[in-house]
Amino acid sequence: MERYAHLKRTDAEIYELIQQQSRYETSTLKMIASESYASLSVLEACGSTLTNKYAEGYPNARYYEGNEYVDQIESLAIERGKKLFGAEHVNVQPYSGSPANQAVYLALLNIGDKLMGMPVTDGGHLTHGWKVNFSGINYTQIPYGPCPDTGKFDMDKIRETALKERPKMIWAGATAYPHKIEYKDFRAIADEIGAYLVADIAHINALIIAGIHPDPVPYCDIVTSTSHKMLRGPRAGFLLSKIEDRLQANSKLNLAQRIDRAVFPGLQGGPHLSIIAAMATAFKEAQTPEFKDYAVQIVKNAKMLAESLLAKGYTLSGGGTDTHLLLLDFREAAFTGKEAAKALAQSGIIANFNMVPGDRRSPFVTSGVRLGTPALTAMGMREPDMQRVADWIDRVCRNMERIEEHAPLIRREIAAFCSQFTGCGG
Ligand SMILES: *Cc1c(COP(=O)(O)O)cnc(C)c1O
Repeated sequence: MERYAHLKRTDAEIYELIQQQSRYETSTLKMIASESYASLSVLEACGSTLTNKYAEGYPNARYYEGNEYVDQIESLAIERGKKLFGAEHVNVQPYSGSPANQAVYLALLNIGDKLMGMPVTDGGHLTHGWKVNFSGINYTQIPYGPCPDTGKFDMDKIRETALKERPKMIWAGATAYPHKIEYKDFRAIADEIGAYLVADIAHINALIIAGIHPDPVPYCDIVTSTSHKMLRGPRAGFLLSKIEDRLQANSKLNLAQRIDRAVFPGLQGGPHLSIIAAMATAFKEAQTPEFKDYAVQIVKNAKMLAESLLAKGYTLSGGGTDTHLLLLDFREAAFTGKEAAKALAQSGIIANFNMVPGDRRSPFVTSGVRLGTPALTAMGMREPDMQRVADWIDRVCRNMERIEEHAPLIRREIAAFCSQFTGCGG
């Protein structure tokens, strides 16, 4: 049967908009670093009849009856997650990445407590203590970030801040940091001040699975993540943790129990079982050699894109990338990050404007553009394709003043190029 056949019949407006979005995504270069493509199997599980079921609680400890099968589904997701990441404990119920992080606060901190995290303007996530987010409203962020001149963390400086401020928890994770994060070094600092160390791997989980980025699991008390983004699963969050609490060995509940209680009943009601089933499927797919190849290729593509742009004279924050993303640094350019991102989008290159280290422009315009390779890699693009992508980016940036004239042509070229890569986005 034709995909979405029922929707097409009963709600043509939504059906048509979904089709249009899908065509838009597959005829443009999807370079938002937090996006990729979920497999059709994942999408089928998301759209399954599990949407109809309530199952507050956890497997074999529910507040509703009739959970024989959904218990098996959630247990499978948990077991696969443990195996995939080598974690002692897994919670697959967070509705998304932000609620997963919220559960960490509820499990570890009291209102007003200090935590160390990166401000959004330095590449951190909203939930790492940003002032307009619950995490900055209810808790006290001690900020840290990459050095304005090198674009990289200075661990001595971070240690100094930690020793002075003595936060109860340290976040290690980012939304816009193109370099590797050394969790071992963060752990040494956390140990010195008796703080919890929590990694947020939403952006880089596939690189960790493939063994091409340092693994936080041995060093961190808790690891939080999303399952969409480069993992190619459903839009959801999950938590990995140690079972024992190394800072409060005598507390009545261990760390794993506190996390589970923070998610339910602390923050959420019924788990989204269709999404949990899809997460289990994504975890299964992530165990395959093909997935590792995809993760390795993401970084190869990002490095080739960086190399090609550097060769054309562009500046990249930190001089390049070790991950899936790069930050084009337009601090010296006549145009802003926002103007560049808009011109790129008009031309069929979809990314986002972003602050860069040492940025003097406001967060509403910025001096940077963040580019990611997960979605292009999922579509099947390789290094030579990245050279072509760099050519298009260069054409847009060199013609910013006459973009209205150039964009339609570039957009058509990109659409023709993208049509060679099939199999993603359904
Ligand atoms: C995306 C992201 C999140 C939050 O995910 P949502 O699902 O959008 O709530 C949390 N932390 C980091 C580092 C992220 O990149």
